[in-house]
Amino acid sequence: MIKFADPSAQYRSYKKRIDAAINRVLESEKYILGEEVEKLEDEFARYIGTSNAIGVANGTDAIEISLRALEIGVGDEVITVSHTAVATVAAIEAAGAKPVLVDVDPRFFTLDPKKLSEVLSKKTKAIILVHLYGNSGDIEGTSAFCKKNNLYLIEDVSQAHGAKWKDRRLGSIGEIGCFSCFPTKNLGAIGDAGLITTNNEDIAKKIFMLREYGWKERVSQITGRNSRLDEIQAAILRIKLEYLDEDNKKRKILAQEYDSILGSNIVTPEVRKQTSHVYHLYVVQLDQRDRVLDYLKQQNIIAGIHYPLAVHQQPAYLNRLKTSKTLVITENLTKDIISLPIYPELPLSKVEQVANLVNKVS
Ligand SMILES: *Cc1c(COP(=O)(O)O)cnc(C)c1O
Repeated sequence: MIKFADPSAQYRSYKKRIDAAINRVLESEKYILGEEVEKLEDEFARYIGTSNAIGVANGTDAIEISLRALEIGVGDEVITVSHTAVATVAAIEAAGAKPVLVDVDPRFFTLDPKKLSEVLSKKTKAIILVHLYGNSGDIEGTSAFCKKNNLYLIEDVSQAHGAKWKDRRLGSIGEIGCFSCFPTKNLGAIGDAGLITTNNEDIAKKIFMLREYGWKERVSQITGRNSRLDEIQAAILRIKLEYLDEDNKKRKILAQEYDSILGSNIVTPEVRKQTSHVYHLYVVQLDQRDRVLDYLKQQNIIAGIHYPLAVHQQPAYLNRLKTSKTLVITENLTKDIISLPIYPELPLSKVEQVANLVNKVS
């Protein structure tokens, strides 16, 4: 069977080191927020190019806590897209703020800055730019709008660990960068984990407090919560961080193979100018998507759809969110996108096999 992602294949790649790291933690004195977390935070900050990185329990918490650190909550609006993981929108509501959703552009499927003025209000405090599928969102357009209107730019980098805009890593450009390290992500734990990056020292201090009850020397100074990262996940992530660039290169080679084999009737991913794509997902657009999905399944190839329903179309959010005039590009996308298998351990020959089957059936 070929799946669109396979985190257990990555465990097998680094099994010896991961097993040793887990054992090191088991024999240690501390299982949560210890030396491994501290070292991961240092190493990740250095890698992304920010002065601070803070480990948290997952990517949803990373966003919620970032908003809280910026004092965004009840009565405030935060703009993002509907074509994203539900997590982005759920985190805004968890912070008490109101998500406002704008349409995406038709080439990169990321937030369309031209739509921002349609929804801007006195309550708007921040924009969450989702770097989708491994490619960067429109940094220029979005940060210009933020500057002009005095809004915070928060990057959701959960699908683009290691990707660059010009010579800077994503997650080092906005006020705050939020990362999920869910097992299938480019930097994935073997369980839940998340990271927050920022160059703002005051915000960093606040985030360190917020993730553990608002504590300073075990006394709550502000109202926080529990979003601690454990030592086993941190130890595993430290190992995988060493290989992240190499693994991203492998994903790129596979993507280029798909690009070269897939027929001209299939729309392959475009890479935004002056950015590097890290191919968290390899998403193409084609006709009769469901037929292709079923055909691949018969051949034991499990492709994905990211996402089959936009956030505003899901029952929990239906007819209650503020949006741009239309979300027509978002809504049409969900019908013809398919995520073909891609992960560092996937052999090139399997990509050829999948690409040829897709050509045959579409
Ligand atoms: C995975 C993901 C998240 C959420 O991360 P969790 O760790 O599952 O909470 C947030 N945003 C995007 C774009 C994601 O892909």
